[in-house]
Amino acid sequence: MTRYSAWSVFKNGLQGQRNWRRAWRDPEPKREYDTVIIGAGLHGLATAYYLAKNHAARNIAVLEKGWLGGGNAGRNTTIVRSNYMMPGNRGFYEHSLRLWENLSHELNYNVMFSQRAHITLLHTPAARDAAARRYNTMLLTGSDAELWSLKKLKRKIPHLNYDSARFPIIGAAVQRRAGNARHDAAAWGYARAADQLGVDIIQNCEVTGFAREANRVTAVDTSRGRIQARRFGLAVAGSTSQLWAAAELGKLPVETHLLQAFVTEPLKPLLDHVVVFGVGGAHFYISQSDKGGMVFGGDLDWYKSYSQRGNLPAVADAAECATSILPCLARVRLLRHWGGLMDMSMDGSPFICKTPLENLYLNAGWNYGGFKASPASGWYFADLIANARAHPAVENFDLGRFARGVNIDERGAGPDPKLHG
Ligand SMILES: Cc1cc2nc3c(=O)[nH]c(=O)nc-3n(C[C@H](O)[C@H](O)[C@H](O)COP(=O)(O)OP(=O)(O)OC[C@H]3O[C@@H](n4cnc5c(N)ncnc54)[C@H](O)[C@@H]3O)c2cc1C
Repeated sequence: MTRYSAWSVFKNGLQGQRNWRRAWRDPEPKREYDTVIIGAGLHGLATAYYLAKNHAARNIAVLEKGWLGGGNAGRNTTIVRSNYMMPGNRGFYEHSLRLWENLSHELNYNVMFSQRAHITLLHTPAARDAAARRYNTMLLTGSDAELWSLKKLKRKIPHLNYDSARFPIIGAAVQRRAGNARHDAAAWGYARAADQLGVDIIQNCEVTGFAREANRVTAVDTSRGRIQARRFGLAVAGSTSQLWAAAELGKLPVETHLLQAFVTEPLKPLLDHVVVFGVGGAHFYISQSDKGGMVFGGDLDWYKSYSQRGNLPAVADAAECATSILPCLARVRLLRHWGGLMDMSMDGSPFICKTPLENLYLNAGWNYGGFKASPASGWYFADLIANARAHPAVENFDLGRFARGVNIDERGAGPDPKLHG
């Protein structure tokens, strides 16, 4: 397999670009594997990679019903940050950010990780106090965090709406090491690196059912035949409840909701950072892509759905938010918008855990935030599958936490998935 480098770009340029190899193979599924991961989104691909890399596991397949990275992995607004506060989340997301910082080297694939700073606008003294608590916790636990005065924010982003905003801006909470990455590149990088370690990535292979013997899964039924394995990992994000039902496991504390993202026509450089605006019912985040388009997202659609489509009320809502903080965007044309399926958990935190079936493991509940989490998610999910016990870092990401009363409710929104971002 070609190693990507400045030299390989130069050499292939001289050879008329004819000698590049496929980035990953397109193997026929075998009838039997040691480990089967269901879902070739970021979490499934990262899990396969770390299983092979960290645990020397072999004979692994990732089964994907469509094309790899075609789910939420390829539909998100690519924000990477670790500004979480609660025990459990704090260390997990910090580990993920650290993995992002070296991911291009680790995978030998440019994931275009850009640490351009994540700036949350503050509008009330109460929001500033809450941010101070969160960002001080981050500082005390080895991360980076800053609170900016209004004066400093004006110097950094002069064209925000400081004059006539319905909710005046009074400052900002900032994580400088946060930013964006290229979502497709992350999926392709993990796919290529996993493939190089011998993982079979089988696309167009939908899992439709589970064959069980007593408390174990013996095989999955797929659109390309039955595939047996010793252990199975479920990493299908917004489709989790459907496969949970197919495995006849009863009710799962996850609801699937739609989230949309938007991109405008390309503009000259306008915004160097990721900016988040959330007050008075608004929820909005914006950054500028390397091609110049303004990329932004808003809130959930407020109803459960598997449709993966955009709709006009969400466009109107996001446009209102955009123009209320950046009035200079008022005449900019929207180029595209799309929807993805959010696996919303009841406390807004994920699951990396065992299931009632002995050899079936669950990775789900990523809400709006699974892109940033994907390296750490793959890392710890691989660890769980390899060792059949949860790593201490994720031991509270289990299904039993609701019964034990140890919900990890970062936003304090209670068991109401549509309120958890
Ligand atoms: C509009 C939008 C904006 C977002 N913005 C951000 C952000 O800025 N930052 C952030 O951190 N997160 C963000 N997210 C969330 C993030 O994208 C997801 O949490 C994350 O991608 C989910 O994990 P995944 O990549 O593994 O999921 P997916 O890419 O959805 O992977 C699941 C895969 O499973 C496959 N699958 C489903 N059913 C089956 C089956 N029966 N058999 C085989 N395969 C199956 C699907 O086809 C899919 O490819 C956003 C999401 C959306 C939609």
